Amino acid sequence: MTLLVLGLLAIQACGDPAQPLAVWGRAGREPGEMIYPRALAKSPDGSFFVVDRAARVQHFDSQGKPLNLWQMAEWSQGKPVGLTVNRDGNLWVPDTHYHRVIVFTPDGKEIKRFGTQGSGPGEFDLPTDVVFDTQGNIYVSEALFRAGVHPRTPAARLDEAALRRLFKAVRAVLRLAIRHGGTTYLNFVNFWGQPGNFRRKLRVYQRTGEACGRCGASIAREAIGGRSSHYCPECQPAVGVRVRPGARPSGRGPRRA
Ligand SMILES: [Zn+2]
Repeated sequence: MTLLVLGLLAIQACGDPAQPLAVWGRAGREPGEMIYPRALAKSPDGSFFVVDRAARVQHFDSQGKPLNLWQMAEWSQGKPVGLTVNRDGNLWVPDTHYHRVIVFTPDGKEIKRFGTQGSGPGEFDLPTDVVFDTQGNIYVSEALFRAGVHPRTPAARLDEAALRRLFKAVRAVLRLAIRHGGTTYLNFVNFWGQPGNFRRKLRVYQRTGEACGRCGASIAREAIGGRSSHYCPECQPAVGVRVRPGARPSGRGPRRA
């Protein structure tokens, strides 16, 4: 993965794969050295993290100077293959072979861990990546649409079948989003400064007034808990949903954001 990263970086940076802008690290176990680097994640402050096949996580400043190094708590079953930095600068490590996610401060202090092996909600089977919905409700809207669940449905009213559809939809939407490099609405760009192109895959989000791709009905928008929720009133019927007096989905004309 990191070979690919460095290769792409070189191509992006100057158009000549033989002339990288910078090369960091060399083989070894000292600070700044790596054993088969596996993943790299950039922090909002310009620093970055690398995890290698020795299950060591290293933090570098934007010039590649080593800042911190720590080892994952356990690694005999396998080592992580992904890293993601949240907007607050903390590092989220999908600890693949332990079926959990561990969150660290930039200097390697563990903040929390969650997840166990399994196929139910909150459980993982070899998680390999973490992605944040930086724009709020994009992935929630998309997953609810795919599952045919109205966004105001109380969680307790979801029957077994709906829960299963929703769980599958959440996984499918996140997997698709990761594959397409995230969603660009405002200014999200990836490590190479490119916008994510998951936006083209969105079926309801920011499509208020447009025809639903499944049934042709007009996509509606409603603010729920202060967040925009987009849905199809036909494909996502309001079952068990209490409608507040005066609350009405907005059906503004076709709009392309
Ligand atoms: Zn529809």
